[in-house]
Formats: sequence, structure tokens, C-alpha cells
Amino acid sequence: MASFLKPFFLGFYHAFKRTFTVKHPFEVLQISDRWRGRPILKLDRCIGCGVCVNYCPNKALELVDCEGSKFPKFDAGRCCFCGLCIEHCPRSALAMTTDYNMGAYTKEETIYPPDRFSQPPKPVEGPRVSLNVLDKKRGAAHTGQPSSA
Ligand code: SF4
Ligand code: SF4
Repeated sequence: MASFLKPFFLGFYHAFKRTFTVKHPFEVLQISDRWRGRPILKLDRCIGCGVCVNYCPNKALELVDCEGSKFPKFDAGRCCFCGLCIEHCPRSALAMTTDYNMGAYTKEETIYPPDRFSQPPKPVEGPRVSLNVLDKKRGAAHTGQPSSA
């Protein structure tokens, strides 16, 4: 095929192809249990030592006063979900959740003070969509290859 026709062919092909995008929030992507989502703080285990703050490469954690003790505050806008804070906490007071619903309209909403940081994520309602189903029904757009289904 003449090379100048290729973009037209691809445009035409994708105009009639099913979309890969998940219709969030009406559909919920079924993600792996190993997904690194928003960390959670176990208040009863934390001793406010600040090791997590020191290890965080993005300054997403900061020790703040809370009910007479020091606890980390979390900034979801800075976190890169590396897991270093969890790995190095001497009290296993931090853990990953699979929560990826951290969208916010304001900077303030991305801040999790200790009491909010320790709350488990709210369950998201809606039909679950797995990546395999997306691959088959909508085309494996994430691989860059057209689906044969
Ligand atoms: S979460 Fe762990 S590392 Fe961070 S202040 Fe609490 S005990 Fe220390
Ligand atoms: S997961 Fe990484 S970037 Fe996020 S708060 Fe922990 S150490 Fe910081």
C-alpha cells in the first residue's frame, strides 16, 4: 500500500472499531490483587517514627499532629505508588490497597490527613470489566495490535 494511504486506512479502521476505554464510573475495571493503589495507614500500629517520610522519594508523606501523636499525612497528587514507605515501615503500619479512584477537582481533595489516610477505600459500584474481556470485545488497544476477535 502506498505509504500516504496508510494514515487514511488506519483512521477509517479505528472509526468503526470498538473503543477500548472503560466507561468509568459506569464500569469498573477488574484489576489484579497485586495492583499498587492508594496506600492505607493502620493508625493502631503507627508509632510516628517518620521512616516512611524519609524513604518517600516524592515527598508524598509528611508527619503531622493528630490527637496528640504524630502520624503521616498522604498526598495522592505526589505519590508514584512505588511502595517504599510500606517496605520500610518498621511496624507494618502501611499497606497498599487496590484503590485507583483518587480523582479530585481540587488540590485539597488529594490530601489525606491521618484519619482519612486510615480509612479503607469505598467500594465502587458497577459492572466489573476484565482486561481479557476488553481484549476480546473492544480490541487490544494497549498492545498496539488489532484484535482478531
Ligand atoms: S507508618 Fe510506619 S514508618 Fe511511617 S511513621 Fe508510622 S510507624 Fe513510622
Ligand atoms: S508509595 Fe512511594 S511515593 Fe507513595 S507515599 Fe509511599 S514511598 Fe511515597
